Amino acid sequence: MAGEKKRSASYLDLQIWVYISKRGQLRDGASFAPLSPAMSDDDEENPQFGSATPWSEPTWYNSSNPTPYYTKHHIAFRAKMRAWVDKEVTPFAAQWETDGEIPPAVFKRAAEVGLLPATVNWPDDIPGVPPRPEGYDGFFSLIAFDELARCANGGVVWGVTGGLGIGLPPVVHFGSDELKTRVAAPCLRGEAFIALAVSEPTAGSDVANIKTTAVSCCADGTADDDGEFYVVNGLKKWITCGMFADFFTVAVRTGGKESGFGGVELLLVSPTQRSLPEPVCGFLK
Ligand SMILES: Cc1cc2nc3c(=O)[nH]c(=O)nc-3n(C[C@H](O)[C@H](O)[C@H](O)COP(=O)(O)OP(=O)(O)OC[C@H]3O[C@@H](n4cnc5c(N)ncnc54)[C@H](O)[C@@H]3O)c2cc1C
Repeated sequence: MAGEKKRSASYLDLQIWVYISKRGQLRDGASFAPLSPAMSDDDEENPQFGSATPWSEPTWYNSSNPTPYYTKHHIAFRAKMRAWVDKEVTPFAAQWETDGEIPPAVFKRAAEVGLLPATVNWPDDIPGVPPRPEGYDGFFSLIAFDELARCANGGVVWGVTGGLGIGLPPVVHFGSDELKTRVAAPCLRGEAFIALAVSEPTAGSDVANIKTTAVSCCADGTADDDGEFYVVNGLKKWITCGMFADFFTVAVRTGGKESGFGGVELLLVSPTQRSLPEPVCGFLK
């Protein structure tokens, strides 16, 4: 019986597919609505960017769908991302999955084509990060992710952007100039890696009750509010990109045991010091 059910489900899928294809063919033959003034002239000759299979691209990739949001600058960025993903990511993604590792050069190229800065809203005050492209806005991030997702490999998408996208924004927004230079800059060049460490075996959604503590202390480990060091104690779990991260943005409890959400701070920790001559540690306030 289970087999029959499966067959009928596949048949239903096929029916839907044919219906949509027919609609697509009809649309191709129809006269298109006037182009949005925001789109480039090139689109008039070839209204569909990418695959003509219905619904396989975002709707605005067909320039017959007018949009006030996307301009020729978005179109140029999309083309750059598509070329990179098609040539340098998709053909190798399955192999990287098997290897359990994305080659370091891929991260550097992700920085060059703009994926890494677009992942964190292209900060403009980090040393060495190229200026935002002309016409930059938040839609560049959508384009970057739409295009990267075409490699059809969740491990690659998360491996390249997952740790950066949630671990770096606190450094970009609240880090000192030193942390921006020594941490954010190499991460955005694809030379170092960062992860966000909030969740714990006993605190997922319940962040206010995390148990990891950071205690200020002297070099000999004696607790001292003005000490030069912190002793960080606790367990973290489910940390995306944590296996290869050089930096961790860590939620720690600095208030007392019962301090709840108000007693939690973010501490930037570099446990491996792989990319650094000396340890980096600092609160993100
Ligand atoms: C793929 C993946 C990647 C992750 N990457 C990271 C990472 O990089 N860094 C990191 O810190 N964490 C990461 N996490 C952990 C993630 O943040 C937690 O899984 C999430 O916070 C949920 O916590 P939990 O799994 O312990 O579920 P729980 O918090 O135990 O929740 C279990 C269920 O109870 C419900 N629930 C919880 N609280 C309440 C409430 N008060 N009222 C009603 N319902 C409630 C939830 O909706 C859920 O259905 C990752 C998780 C996944 C799956």
